[in-house]
Amino acid sequence: MPKIKLKNLLLDLQENWPLARETNFGLGGPARYFFRATSKADLLKALSVAKQLKIKTFVLGSGTNVAISDRGFSGLVIKFENQNPHQSFYLNKRLLIAEASVLLADLLKFSFKHDLAGLEKMAGIPGTLGGAIVGNAGAYGQMISDQVIWVEIFDGQKIRQVSKSTLKFNYRDSLFKQRPTWLVLRVAFKLLAGERKILQAESRKIIAIRNNKYPAGIKSAGSFFKNLPVTKIPNSVRKKIPTEKIKAGKIPAAYLLEQSNVGGMTVRGMAVSHFHHNFLINTGTGTYCDLRLLVRHLKKKVYRQFGLELEEEVRYIN
Ligand SMILES: Cc1cc2nc3c(=O)[nH]c(=O)nc-3n(C[C@H](O)[C@H](O)[C@H](O)COP(=O)(O)OP(=O)(O)OC[C@H]3O[C@@H](n4cnc5c(N)ncnc54)[C@H](O)[C@@H]3O)c2cc1C
Repeated sequence: MPKIKLKNLLLDLQENWPLARETNFGLGGPARYFFRATSKADLLKALSVAKQLKIKTFVLGSGTNVAISDRGFSGLVIKFENQNPHQSFYLNKRLLIAEASVLLADLLKFSFKHDLAGLEKMAGIPGTLGGAIVGNAGAYGQMISDQVIWVEIFDGQKIRQVSKSTLKFNYRDSLFKQRPTWLVLRVAFKLLAGERKILQAESRKIIAIRNNKYPAGIKSAGSFFKNLPVTKIPNSVRKKIPTEKIKAGKIPAAYLLEQSNVGGMTVRGMAVSHFHHNFLINTGTGTYCDLRLLVRHLKKKVYRQFGLELEEEVRYIN
């Protein structure tokens, strides 16, 4: 029986573990098996054992950018966590190498301590470095991929280094989204020379802006939909959008939603937040099913208003 073998091979394996408590959205049914990998060796061992037993796997970072189905996951969920940020960064001149399981917040702290610039505008983005690489997270004009040199991956067979150009980073996108068996293990950045005090001040300023935008502790996954590149929008629609609303070549999804009068829209326990139209929140009793229904309504409203299709930034796990 796979159950007995998996239990024997992975210490601290949980069964029927509620995934809702592992995600920021607070959505998700049980994982048939759940394991916390606190090192690369743990992660690779869990994957190899699951492969031997033909159990499907899914790797989670901090769970801040996923919406998991109410049915949960019938295989093994591995949460890649870091318990030792002090031993997760290596500096070689200006090349900074970090483990994928570190929190972005710890990565930023480390870079500031060493007077290295290039990540400071991402202050306040929750989650792990691995999750940030997969979705090419970013904010205020910086993206995690900007200073990447290479990424160490496990491709389902072996560990190898992949150059930045291979990974096809784009706005909230990377090749990892098309390669579900690829895992981020380590990332090398070439950062710029900076000054600790200036970098810390910049990041504090950004955190203050974020604190003004949304309350702490909300059950959400941040911006739900991607902003739309202006180049992909027909001229007839583009003309309807005031120039000042276009930010960094993109039309904010929040603006399109606001103009489509979705403020206050709810489906049972899921709602469009009142402070940011692109933040969908779980008011406490929300389910994945409610979320999918709400998303369908929102897409329809924007399509009717502008003829534009919204695309999810958040990843569905079902
Ligand atoms: C309040 C709030 C504000 C936010 N603000 C921003 C923002 O300003 N900009 C922004 O870009 N995002 C933002 N986000 C979204 C989120 O924080 C980022 O996308 C973050 O990088 C996700 O990291 P994670 O560890 O939580 O990933 P998870 O949600 O755990 O996973 C996301 C995806 O990555 C995969 N994954 C995770 N780790 C690995 C790995 N090591 N190898 C391979 N695949 C992996 C998972 O399988 C999943 O498909 C925000 C979210 C919240 C809740």
